[in-house]
Amino acid sequence: MLKDASIDPKNRELGESWSRSLAQAVRDVDQLVELLNLPKSLSPQALAAARLFPLMVPKSYLNRIEPGNPSDPLLLQVLPLGDEFDQAPGFTEDAVGDNQSKTAPGLMQKYAGRALFIATGSCAVHCRYCFRRHYPYGDEPKTMAEWEPAFAALEADTSIKEVILSGGDPLMLTDARLAKLFERFNSIGHLSRLRIHSRLPIVLPDRMTDRLIDLMRSSRLTPIMVVHANHPQELQNDCAQALKKIVQAGITVLNQAVLLKGVNDSIEPLEQLCERLVDLGVIPYYLHQLDRVAGTAHFEVPEQVGRLLIEALRKKLPGYAIPQYVREIPGEGHKTPLF
Ligand SMILES: *Cc1c(COP(=O)(O)O)cnc(C)c1O
Ligand code: SF4
Repeated sequence: MLKDASIDPKNRELGESWSRSLAQAVRDVDQLVELLNLPKSLSPQALAAARLFPLMVPKSYLNRIEPGNPSDPLLLQVLPLGDEFDQAPGFTEDAVGDNQSKTAPGLMQKYAGRALFIATGSCAVHCRYCFRRHYPYGDEPKTMAEWEPAFAALEADTSIKEVILSGGDPLMLTDARLAKLFERFNSIGHLSRLRIHSRLPIVLPDRMTDRLIDLMRSSRLTPIMVVHANHPQELQNDCAQALKKIVQAGITVLNQAVLLKGVNDSIEPLEQLCERLVDLGVIPYYLHQLDRVAGTAHFEVPEQVGRLLIEALRKKLPGYAIPQYVREIPGEGHKTPLF
């Protein structure tokens, strides 16, 4: 009889469990509609929009979506809709000026002291409002050799103290590849912090293995993790456990959320999101105004509404539980506070 790799504890240590979860992610519109008992009438537009940006949602995330509810706030983040074809004025492919801020292939710098490293173009979930849904990942480096110019650029600029692993989702890389990257960053003397921007603790919590956490902690650089959750319903079960685990390992964990119409553009979900985050030991860091990326206009919430929401949050929560409401304006030296 063949041995099932997924139940061999040795393989599980090697990360087999999360790669299996990834393989089982739902990528087929009809399967999503069926699993969640959604109206079949959604299928044609979902199929069409999935050709713009493919559907992808891991089972763990799917388990947190209420079946039979087409307006579930988690479903809306992942369900392709006909609205994505709307050509809204001002919504473009490179809304935040990524292409102009490249300092080397795979490396971007917009702000003083920190550089952003594109570790991979892959993600475990495809968020329909993604600000990099049109990003030309295919052109980016993928091997240590191809990244050498990016490492050289980091080495040459001693003002850079922090490297931010982004993407895509950097934790889509295997531990072995991450270890090589970390080692290379470790060797750059003027770096002191390693920040990881990842949505995997939220959407594929079994990625947060003890092995990965040890790897992050074993670096000379201070690790900081920035996760991405938009709604309190995301912070349940295996996701809550994974976040607790990172926090308990002594790693600073921050959350960034995007203000999204129909998902979190009212006081209850935002308040509960912030409450749940701080209860788990995660600091609400940013609430982003939506970047005006083509195909996402139906998610936009007016800034005036965002300001009112922050004002309402301030009346309910401790100061440390209030995220900074910001927008990214191309050419500015920092994210711009809106309130
Ligand atoms: C948002 C962003 C950062 C991080 O900014 P912080 O305010 O430090 O969180 C860094 N680099 C780029 C290119 C960014 O877009
Ligand atoms: S996880 Fe981040 S990079 Fe990936 S699709 Fe979602 S918003 Fe985009």
